[in-house]
Order: sequence, then C-alpha cells, then structure tokens
Amino acid sequence: MTSDALLLEKIHSDADDALNRSGLDVNRIDGALEGQALIDAANGCRVLGVRSKSAVTAEALNALTSLEAVGCFCIGTNQVALDAAAAAGVVVFNSPFSNTRSVAEMTIAEIIALQRKLFDRSMGLHAGTWQKSATGSHEVRGRTLGIIGYGHIGSQVSVLAESLGMRVIYHDIVPRMPLGNAIACESLNELLKASDTVTLHVPASPATKDLIGEKELRSMQPGASLINNARGSVVDLAALSKAIGDGHIGGAAIDVFPQEPGSNEESFKCPLAGSPNVILTPHVGGSTEEAQAQIGRDVALKIERFLTTGTTTTAVNVPEVDLPSHHPDQMRILHFHRNVPGVLSALHSILADAQANIHAEYLQSLGDLSYVILDVDPIDREQVGKSISALPETIRLRILG
Ligand code: NAD
Repeated sequence: MTSDALLLEKIHSDADDALNRSGLDVNRIDGALEGQALIDAANGCRVLGVRSKSAVTAEALNALTSLEAVGCFCIGTNQVALDAAAAAGVVVFNSPFSNTRSVAEMTIAEIIALQRKLFDRSMGLHAGTWQKSATGSHEVRGRTLGIIGYGHIGSQVSVLAESLGMRVIYHDIVPRMPLGNAIACESLNELLKASDTVTLHVPASPATKDLIGEKELRSMQPGASLINNARGSVVDLAALSKAIGDGHIGGAAIDVFPQEPGSNEESFKCPLAGSPNVILTPHVGGSTEEAQAQIGRDVALKIERFLTTGTTTTAVNVPEVDLPSHHPDQMRILHFHRNVPGVLSALHSILADAQANIHAEYLQSLGDLSYVILDVDPIDREQVGKSISALPETIRLRILG
C-alpha cells in the first residue's frame, strides 16, 4: 500500500479534508505500529499520523526519507523521537488545546454534581437506599467558584460558570485578562478562603507539585469542594482523603492521579476510593468524540499550512515561522539547515549566480537547526535545487511554486 499520508490508530476522519486539500492521498491502518512494521507501512509517505501508541523512533525517521511531517493526533509527543525528527528536517505537530471545551464542560457538570451530592444519591438508589433530603444540597447560582490557572481551560470554565450565575474568582501566576465579571485574586490563599468550589487548571511542573496539600485544604471554607481535572501531581491525595474524612472538605472530583494505569486492563487504587461525595473518573476530562474530531481537524490543518506555505507555527521540534502564502508568480525555497555561520551567504550566492531576485526572506533558529524561507522570481528549479542540496549544512530542501 502506498499513499502520501498514512494515518494510524483510528485518527478521526475529519483529518482527511485538509490533507486532501494539500494534494495527499490518505490511507489508514486502525492499529498502532512500530519498528520494521511502521517503516514498511509508511515507506514513501510524506505525512505520518499517529496517536499515543505508535513508536516513531530515530531508526524509523532515518529510514523514512520521504517523510516531511509527523502529526501527533493527540496531546503528547513522547511517542516521537523529536530530536531525530528535527535532525532529519521532519516537522512534528500535535494538538494540545483541542479538548479544552470537553474538560470545561465536565468541570461544570462536577461543580453541580458535588453541590447536590448526586453521585452519592445515585449510588444509594443503586444499593436500594432512598435518601430524599435537601440538607447540604445547594444551587450553584450565586455561589463562588475559584479557578486556579486561567489558561485555555480555566478561562472557558469561567465563562460557562458565569452563565450559571456563579461568582467567579481566579488566580494565575501570569497576569490574565478577566473574562466577563471574573475577578483576579492576588494570592492563592485569598482564592481558597473565598471559594465554595475550587477547580484546578494548571500544568504539571515543579512549582505546581502538591500545590494543594494539607495547609491549602485547611485554608478552604468548611464544606467547600475541590475539583482536579488538571494533572495528578497537583493535589496531595492523602491530605485530601483526610480532609474529606474529617468533614472539612465537602466533596471532590478527581480525574487525574499521581499514578495512572497504563491500560484499561490494569487495576486502580486510590486513597479516596469509597469516600463520601467523591467523583473519581479515569482521566476522561478531554475524552469526547467532539474533541477527537477537533484534534483531527487541528493537526491536519497545521500539516496543510506547512505543506502549502512552509508555516511551522506550533510545531514542537523545529523553529516556528508563520508565513503568508507566496505570490503565485514567485517560487518559495524552504530550507532546513544546520545552524552554523555562512549558510545564508552561501544560499545568497547560489541565488545570485542564478540571477534570482529575492522578494522576501524569513529565518528562525532553534538549537542546532535553522529554517530559512526565500520568495524569489522563478528560477531554474533543478539547477538551484542541486546547488542548495549540495551544501554540506543542508538538512532538507523544498521548493514550492
Ligand atoms: P494552559 O497552559 O492554557 O493554562 C494553564 C494556566 O495555568 C496558565 O495560565 C498558567 O499561567 C497557569 N499557571 C501555571 N502555574 C501556575 C500556578 N502555580 N498557579 C496558578 N496558575 C498557574 O493549559 P490548559 O490547556 O488550560 O490545561 C490546564 C491543565 O489541564 C493542564 O495540566 C493539562 O495537562 C490539563 N488537561 C487535562 C485533561 C484531562 O483529560 N483531564 C485534558 C486537557 C488538559
């Protein structure tokens, strides 16, 4: 089977439009591939699409000499040897924010579910116990939501929570423009003290490890709820279990854990299991069909822009350059090369010898790799291509137009 683009692991069909627009034939294999099987299947492809289970190793990248771009149709990029890809001039894209809305919606559902103790009521009925009572159940309208981390997800939660009539406060280490009527808190402590529900939307980092521990939980209002749909390292679960056990914290929803099973076949243990008014979910905050479709469109669109204009914005392993389309009467030279002195002057001298007028020039470097783009009047493509390819610093050359 030969194709211009090979998509593995049931990547959403919404990816196809942008890839077809780039002039690529798309083939699919449902499972993950690695090793020689991946090399054989992707041989001759310009684009390879993977999710989290395939392994795109340095060996595979060196063997797949036609490959120009790898699309990780997921959040992470650990499955690709990123340095080897950069060294081969293969651009890697992913989609870190396509599931933002899915996480925000689940968070909103949990804010309400915790205030109404819905899971405990439901579990009661499953076990044959009828517990009709209003005590301890609250509307969320008029109550205060504290958002820690006001980035893509935190700011969407802010908008949705306000539409429910909640008062929204937030804390971020970077100054962020408040949306709607949300109010920024100077300190984490200020937010913890004022919130009925606290929801976390920060990245995993040394600074956010155990951001919510014993001290922070005790700063929260008695009966307040905590939601962590961010990363497992951010909350000290033993301290949370204790604070729920003694009734200080009224409920929690946890989607992410310090240790998560590697597959659906592995079992799961957590200190919160069996605690009252605690919702535990298996890292599904971003897992919706809509998010998968959005990821398909997002990554394919990035690949389309790279193939048709050379744009590498949001690529994870090469210098980022945002390019307009080139003029239809001009040619565009796209050149990845080793970041050493003298390459630009060698390129200019090749173009001067070809009597090519340069209309635009863009350059960006990242570590050992540089990316230069030149828009020029039409030239002898074969001759100039041969001369540029012969430069010892050349990693990869494409000429558009
Ligand atoms: P983002 O980068 O857009 O926003 C993160 C925000 O947190 C930024 O504004 C940043 O300045 C802020 N921040 C960083 N350190 C902070 C600190 N110590 N205190 C306060 N604010 C701090 O990220 P995002 O897309 O909104 O994602 C947020 C989290 O959600 C990430 O950890 C991500 O991995 C996680 N996530 C989880 C799921 C899931 O399935 N549960 C899905 C997608 C994302």
